[in-house]
Amino acid sequence: MLARDGSGRASGDGSMMVRPMDAEQLRECGHRMVDFIADYYKSIETFPVLSQVKASHAPFTVPTCSLNINCSDDECYSVLELRHYATGYDMDAPGYLKELLPDTAPNKSDTLEDLFDDIREKIVPGVTHWQSPNFFAYYPSNSSTAGFLGEMLSAAFNIVGFSWITSPAATELEVIVLDWFAKMLKLPSQFLSTELGGGIIQGTASEAVLVVLLAARDRTLRKHGKKSLEKLVVYASDQTHSALQKACQIAGIFPENFRIVMADCNKHYAVAPEAVMEAISTDLSSGLIPFFICATVGTTSSSAVDPLPELGQIAKAHDMWFHVDAAYAGSSCICPEYQHYLDGVEEADSFNMNAHKWFLTNFDCSLLWVKVGGKGLSHSVFVYKPRISQE
Ligand SMILES: *Cc1c(COP(=O)(O)O)cnc(C)c1O
Repeated sequence: MLARDGSGRASGDGSMMVRPMDAEQLRECGHRMVDFIADYYKSIETFPVLSQVKASHAPFTVPTCSLNINCSDDECYSVLELRHYATGYDMDAPGYLKELLPDTAPNKSDTLEDLFDDIREKIVPGVTHWQSPNFFAYYPSNSSTAGFLGEMLSAAFNIVGFSWITSPAATELEVIVLDWFAKMLKLPSQFLSTELGGGIIQGTASEAVLVVLLAARDRTLRKHGKKSLEKLVVYASDQTHSALQKACQIAGIFPENFRIVMADCNKHYAVAPEAVMEAISTDLSSGLIPFFICATVGTTSSSAVDPLPELGQIAKAHDMWFHVDAAYAGSSCICPEYQHYLDGVEEADSFNMNAHKWFLTNFDCSLLWVKVGGKGLSHSVFVYKPRISQE
């Protein structure tokens, strides 16, 4: 690590040379790291869940002063506040760490003990402890001790598994475990790799929905012609995760064709199929092309469950892609008593859930299954069934 004065100067004794750890040093440092982690887990309940660091205004006073604005600290603060609202930053958040770390990268190594000191003094105070048993914000995103032991091994192999031959075990294990998971969720057999479908691991649910939206878009464009992009319409309730709207932006869906149907507060914030049907009919009569419905099983804000069988029927009747996003609550559906929340998933073309939310798996691990048959997905460049024997 860097000299404590942050100068980044190399000492004249040639110590800039990088020497990787040998196996014995790794063993020793690895044990110390595991001890550090075990101690963290042992005492995790004693940390305040929310990071305690305060905003630092220092980095932002410089440009203000260089503009020669003659003002008191209070006035400067308000100018800066405005700026940061303008750029979308929250004034309460950024800046604490910059003051504690040097401005240039280190070119001299530091001891592991020094690193631990830095982690304790500078990093841990800026951590919000998602793994704390007292964390109740957003949604559960719990890993597990078993999960991060697996992460260690995965980090050590560091497999880049873009095709079967780059590590057959990686591709095959992914396919097998996603089949296991599909069976635990009782997904219809078309989602299994042994049929025409299959599951793959994506980084996040946001990526999963983007992947299927692109596949659905291209399928529709193949049918209606490339020039019909401006007519394609996506349907979802106002309780749907914002990831879908972002995916639409990336996929080039015209913003006015992202149809937000209000959820029904009398039905626990599930969307009413009649409302979706009505929106589709209106769009069809305007010459638009409805092509994608996203239903949610377990909305992020209130765990609402959209009516899958009815939405699936609507999608089928209009040759639309039907995606089911169970990012948050999907894990619970492996329990027999909750499995009924997935009734109707047999109508879906694709289904995703986040193992990194409620399945004791480290971030990031979002699982996506598609039924390849029926919708010509095998022609899509985005989603394909790994053809192990042909790689
Ligand atoms: C959390 C969540 C997402 C987004 O998940 P990421 O993996 O963070 O992209 C999407 N949909 C639902 C229902 C969610 O709860």
